[in-house]
Amino acid sequence: MNGPPLAALLTPIGRGAIATIRVSLLGASRPVADVWPFRAANGRPLSAQSVGRIVFGYWGSEPSEEIVLCALDDATLEIHCHGGDAASRRILRDLAAAGCRVVAWPEFLQQTESPLRAEIMGELCRATTLPTAAILWEQANGLFELTVGALVAEAPGNLPAAAARIREWLAWADFGLHLTRPWRVVLAGRPNVGKSSLINAILGYTRCVVFDQPGTTRDVVSAQTAIDGWPIEVSDTAGLRASADPLESAGIERARQTLETADLAVVLIDVSQPASAADRAILAEHRPAIVVAHKCDLVAYEGNDRWQTDETDQWLRVSAKTGVGVEALVAAISLQLIPRVPPPDSLIPLTERHVALLNTALAAAERADTAGLAQSLAALLTGADDPAHSTS
Ligand code: GDP
Repeated sequence: MNGPPLAALLTPIGRGAIATIRVSLLGASRPVADVWPFRAANGRPLSAQSVGRIVFGYWGSEPSEEIVLCALDDATLEIHCHGGDAASRRILRDLAAAGCRVVAWPEFLQQTESPLRAEIMGELCRATTLPTAAILWEQANGLFELTVGALVAEAPGNLPAAAARIREWLAWADFGLHLTRPWRVVLAGRPNVGKSSLINAILGYTRCVVFDQPGTTRDVVSAQTAIDGWPIEVSDTAGLRASADPLESAGIERARQTLETADLAVVLIDVSQPASAADRAILAEHRPAIVVAHKCDLVAYEGNDRWQTDETDQWLRVSAKTGVGVEALVAAISLQLIPRVPPPDSLIPLTERHVALLNTALAAAERADTAGLAQSLAALLTGADDPAHSTS
């Protein structure tokens, strides 16, 4: 691709100690960078620095910026400067004056990477934990492309085997989509059952709050954290019960919607109180995978004579107040949401586009439509949309 060199700030503004600017020379040769206001401490011009060498030097005239620069390959240079806004703005301004086109990072990716890699790198930028970033990085760095490429070569010879492979990949679709959209856990139960207290205990236990969204007691309050490295959003809902107060009713309706769309509902029962019709209704309505026998510090023994024993056997005894059972609850949430992880080297669908195209490819393989299968897999690699949808 030709055109003026492209430059983009890759790091978020104002966060982190170091900012990273990448420049792609596109069709130009490295000497164009020799006009940049950069003086390497080793005294050599940029065009004479070897690829992969980390070069310390100064940018601009006094007061100059101390920077580190590296030629990643013959056409790509990376500049690391002070993380504050002023340094990166100054360097980008100077690069623009030297003939670079300064663009935002999504456009930079689109112009300099294959469409598939740009797509996955875009997802990578939305990862909030190290394990999710590591998976996305691996998929972006060839695993996705090579795995699909291998199937393109093998599929015509054995369509049933191709279908089986695609089914294996699609089994990870829910996992893959959640790498950039947290799994959503909702704590539900009657008012005063201890939902807010328990959400705080969970967040305190995981000690990794990414985002806190305040709300009133009538509202859905949510916070993002990580459990075993997986991004999880925990929501505390307004108490579920019929209310005559319109404001409270609206909050309760929102709570119901949050529950319906959640990946996991955890129902809390206050076992220090007698079983009520409202508790039974919440249990019957949500058939939760996890039930918490909450405020267990208030009952002197395991189980509770106010509830049937066989009912409470499977419940987790937890106290937000003393912390008893919080670790077990966090482990149960993790196991329920992510019971298994993909084996190494497995392709993982990461976007709705991947899932749609793999479903189209699977349908083609199942009806022995070799051309349709090849078309869907090719679209997957070239970043195109589902051909079945784009032609309809
Ligand atoms: P929510 O309305 O369900 O969010 O309940 P809150 O978290 O506001 O708690 C209601 C009351 O129960 C507060 O007075 C809490 O201090 C108390 N509480 C919460 N969790 C526990 C617990 O595990 N044990 C005891 N003894 N009290 C608790």
